[in-house]
Amino acid sequence: MNSDSQLNLFELESSPKPELNDLIPTDAKIPIPPGTYPSMVELAQHCNQCHRCGLGDTRTHAVIGRGNLEALIMIVGEAPGQNEDETELPFVGRSGKLLEQILASVRLDTEKDIYIANIAKCRPPENRTPTAKEMAACKPYLFEQIRLVDPKIILLTGATAVKGLIGDQGSMTSIRGKWIEWEGRLCMPIFHPSYLLRNPSRDRGGPKWMMWQDIQAVRAKYDEIRNVN
Ligand code: URA
Repeated sequence: MNSDSQLNLFELESSPKPELNDLIPTDAKIPIPPGTYPSMVELAQHCNQCHRCGLGDTRTHAVIGRGNLEALIMIVGEAPGQNEDETELPFVGRSGKLLEQILASVRLDTEKDIYIANIAKCRPPENRTPTAKEMAACKPYLFEQIRLVDPKIILLTGATAVKGLIGDQGSMTSIRGKWIEWEGRLCMPIFHPSYLLRNPSRDRGGPKWMMWQDIQAVRAKYDEIRNVN
């Protein structure tokens, strides 16, 4: 053994380098490659310790999702509000109740037929819209959720969900109810239920009437897909 090798024996073993995966919740620059999470459990663990953006500083809980992990339909909302931040479940406040009723009107059950998640997993202070940076930091988690659930249909509630997942497509009134193919899946922008709470008109051509048209189209597509498979 030469003297260099002998000297090397004096070195303490360096502490193991953290795996890149362990750094995911620490920095939005760390990518989240497809297949990172074997299940929603591991993904939730990362989300609950996540500080990829500043929302991690003010959340009570990260809100991952709820419903059937093998659902054909996934609903993507904007971000948790106060009720969601407290309960860890998406869409459990007033707009969530309305969403349940809309789905029930075409016999869709949120526990059985649907998986619900949000673009941002943590509540923005004062319920403001998540910023583009916050959405970008969180989006790879959503991609992983979509990969794990593998829905055929994705309903995007409101402009932020549309923008956050598939990019700006125009005004909600012009794109709602339209099927948009994205990554081999059928996406439909629909009004956010909180918009319907503020604009409750059921008149023909009004927001609730439009939602009724859209949700019937979703039911028809769901039946079509189920009959093929
Ligand atoms: N609004 C959303 O977009 N998501 C929720 O989880 C609750 C309200």
